[in-house]
Amino acid sequence: MKISMTVNKTNCAKCPYHWSKKLCYDPDGKNLPYCPTKHEQALLKKSLQEYQKPEIFEFAKQASIQEAEGYQRLEGDNFKPIKPHILEIMEFATKMNYKKLGLIFCEGLAAEAKAVDKLISGKGMIRIASEVGWRRPLNYGMLGIILMSSLDPKNVKRILKKYSLKPYTPMSITDADAFSLRLEQIRDQGYILEKEEAVEGVIGIAAPIRDYSRQVVAALGIALPAGSRNQTKGLDHIVDLIKKTCETISSDLGYLKI
Ligand code: SF4
Repeated sequence: MKISMTVNKTNCAKCPYHWSKKLCYDPDGKNLPYCPTKHEQALLKKSLQEYQKPEIFEFAKQASIQEAEGYQRLEGDNFKPIKPHILEIMEFATKMNYKKLGLIFCEGLAAEAKAVDKLISGKGMIRIASEVGWRRPLNYGMLGIILMSSLDPKNVKRILKKYSLKPYTPMSITDADAFSLRLEQIRDQGYILEKEEAVEGVIGIAAPIRDYSRQVVAALGIALPAGSRNQTKGLDHIVDLIKKTCETISSDLGYLKI
């Protein structure tokens, strides 16, 4: 028995052109034969009218801001995400001032749903996760900054020429000269204490780890909620703990403190 079904000939997923060359991005762009941008003008007009509604306009605006903040890693000519999507959802919900989020899941993912519920509902905890293989921008977080602070100034200058510093929070350092000065300060003091430069509400403290060659080969840090430990005494204690732990690991790797 032959079944044939033609409900809708539109299939944007099959559109083979680069996004910048498509008709839905560029008025002179290319398109598939059944392109909705070309053939569904009335629907398009109606959709655009929807954006005039304040709640829809605000949703679209905040979603665009969130996307721009989240996709900052340029690979080839495509932007890739710099943070886990679950964190993006939480940030977007905060931007929209949402108090409740619905969580729908199949039973097979009950354990994952439990973890998401714990993360989103807070329960007094903030969890920061890094994906394996995640390549962070230069000024995003304590660990990369610590590693950069061990480079010689010429190398730092070369890297800063190649990669721009983008803002992730109002506290992010985006000026190359100020960033270089910051690296010098970190190199001199032997640790970094960053307050909400990468993620709002999060403080990062990190120190370098060296091996027998005296080179910095890794970094160790801790992220903690801003506010609960914002007293200088509490933070000083954590800085001491991180530095001592890094010294112990460095010593195990053959580093001799002279
Ligand atoms: S150009 Fe047309 S067919 Fe291609 S992705 Fe855009 S809307 Fe779809």
